[in-house]
Amino acid sequence: MTSPRKPEAFIHGKALRPESLMSSYGYDPRLSEGSLKIPIFQTSTFVFKSAEEGKSFFELAYGLREPRDNERLGLIYSRLNNPDLEILEDRLTLWDDAESAAVFESGMAAISTALFALLSPGDVILHSEPLYGGTDYFLKHVLTRFGIQPVGFPAGASTAEIEARLAASGQADRLRMIYVETPANPTNTLVDIAACAQIARAHSSEARRVVVAVDNTFLGPLWQHPLKHGADLVLYSATKYIGGHSDVIAGVCLGPSTLMTEVRAMRTFLGTMCGPWTGWLLLRSLETLKLRMTSQMKNARYVADFLADHPKVHRVHYLGHLGEDDPQHAVYKRQCIAPGGMVSFDVRGGEAEAFRFLNALQLFRLAVSLGGTESLAEHPASMTHSDIPPGERARMGIGENMVRLSIGVEHPEDLIADLTQALAVA
Ligand SMILES: *Cc1c(COP(=O)(O)O)cnc(C)c1O
Repeated sequence: MTSPRKPEAFIHGKALRPESLMSSYGYDPRLSEGSLKIPIFQTSTFVFKSAEEGKSFFELAYGLREPRDNERLGLIYSRLNNPDLEILEDRLTLWDDAESAAVFESGMAAISTALFALLSPGDVILHSEPLYGGTDYFLKHVLTRFGIQPVGFPAGASTAEIEARLAASGQADRLRMIYVETPANPTNTLVDIAACAQIARAHSSEARRVVVAVDNTFLGPLWQHPLKHGADLVLYSATKYIGGHSDVIAGVCLGPSTLMTEVRAMRTFLGTMCGPWTGWLLLRSLETLKLRMTSQMKNARYVADFLADHPKVHRVHYLGHLGEDDPQHAVYKRQCIAPGGMVSFDVRGGEAEAFRFLNALQLFRLAVSLGGTESLAEHPASMTHSDIPPGERARMGIGENMVRLSIGVEHPEDLIADLTQALAVA
């Protein structure tokens, strides 16, 4: 299940790396007056060369016949396809080595469309906890209205614990999907994707294949590739690292063509695709994805090391600090390529100390979201995770004294200078 790469992705038969292809792959300037950069195809509809061509495009779009060798869906209407989206989707498949990709107007649009496409009334969706707030709400308050039952397990749980949760629901035979967010937000607790894939296979039958979907927003597409570990679908909020400039809301779903055909069909009916302008912004972002994520990852290590040694910091939650004796270490080694750019920490004290710290920051901005070029800080207990009941929040390890940082591309010493002066106030 690898990306069906076009010929320009090779030199003398050797596959080029994704970062080498982000300015050229899938785009032929001769089709656009020689324009070096991809134009914004700001159009709702496309002109057919002939009635026969229009008929042929529709046959394929509506699945009335199988595509001929290498035949791709022709351009019809921008809810179905658009050149900015198609080129973006081709480029996105390269990072995760996926067969197929679909882009959406938000991460939540990608997630909700994929789940609506693949789940039916009576199905069970087994999911890690905590989940992104919007996803959590969608599973517990929207899917339940359609007879789909969520069953949660804590991030970091063993295979036996996950199986026990599923068995306790009394509906293990109705399992249809395992939905995972790893590392979990904001604790950075890892979920073992390969273990989830094994559970899924154990509960699959010929007629009923259990799908593993992974929200890879926090580490992907540079530092974790869920498809390599047995996942079937990868989801992204492209608002975060993929967009990377905190100026666009978008989402992505990737996977094998069989599943993506269903996801794409549901996208057509819900109309959750992104527009050409969003597609163009993301194409521009992809050119610097590796540069940005590498710089953010390196900066995060400086910040995490600094925080770990600070007397006002009780504990740092950072993947690069997992000890060899920590059971999570083996999962990290197997599953992750680098620790990424998200660092959470507990200040000594409670909400008052955390707030004094946040209010004193000068270079870090006080805002939710993450993955942009600028560093951000937020307070999970009162902001992103405030709708989780306090008892449950404490069980997840999200205290009143926790601060979450998204590290940007600034000079690391300037970030540390800001943290130093704000911690002095805390
Ligand atoms: C932000 C986020 C989402 C939702 O994405 P939007 O683009 O805001 O719709 C989903 N999952 C994770 C992990 C996120 O951080």
